[in-house]
Amino acid sequence: MFRDKVILITGSSQGIGRSIALKFALLGGKIALNDILSQEENLKKIKEEIEKLGTEAKYFFADVSKLEEVEKMVEDIQKEFGRLDVLVNNAGICADRTLAKMTKEEWQKVIDIDLTGVFNCTKAALPLIIANQGKIISISSLVGERGNFGQTNYAAAKAGIIGFTKSLAKEVGRFGVTVNAVAPGFIETKLTENLPQEIKQMVLKLTALSRFGQPEEVANLVAFLASEEASFITGEVVNIDGGLAI
Ligand code: NAD
Repeated sequence: MFRDKVILITGSSQGIGRSIALKFALLGGKIALNDILSQEENLKKIKEEIEKLGTEAKYFFADVSKLEEVEKMVEDIQKEFGRLDVLVNNAGICADRTLAKMTKEEWQKVIDIDLTGVFNCTKAALPLIIANQGKIISISSLVGERGNFGQTNYAAAKAGIIGFTKSLAKEVGRFGVTVNAVAPGFIETKLTENLPQEIKQMVLKLTALSRFGQPEEVANLVAFLASEEASFITGEVVNIDGGLAI
């Protein structure tokens, strides 16, 4: 389905990003992995996994919150692969604390990586994506739609992605580019593994399917939105939460 297409997934050394990279590789795409320098070991492993699937993968270090690093990454992707068809804005962090206790640094770091990171990567990649009538998919969160205790910074960033997605969809639709977001509920990754047990139990109770989601399930949705099957879907936010938002 993605033969000869090049897909960039930010923050793809572990968790949801890693699963998205493997999914696109299984579907025949060439994979541009990205993460920060400290994740080099993981990136090496996933590159090898992808090569075993019979396709190409290369990794590019860039902190998505730094525009110059992102611009260099996109230049390198153009040099290495000659094109870019799909951008998946996945890199993200959280730094949870009630607003009363939150420092300016905790606010700023989450906004810089989770929201400005999406601006930086999309801004740098857009000319290449337009050239191929490509797709942009960003990982927002249910928290961006509903809010969550202790996550004003994260919720603001993830809600920002939704406004960004809808606006950009209007700007670039005329070039045949689609722009969508996905909003996961609770997915089992390193980001969620250390949450207190009572929070996990509460989420489980509220989730219609009575289980947490797996990164592969998010990857399936992202691959669908990046495929020709989803050619008339743009400016949407698709929840993937096992019924948590019902
Ligand atoms: P994760 O922590 O396992 O993975 C995040 C990845 O982003 C890591 O590899 C990390 O090194 C990378 N990253 C962090 N800062 C970066 C930066 N400045 N530049 C480049 N890469 C950077 O988390 P995950 O659960 O796989 O989350 C992936 C995305 O999904 C995030 O945007 C997260 O907010 C979102 N999300 C996750 C859940 C969930 O329940 N896990 C729910 C909703 C949304």
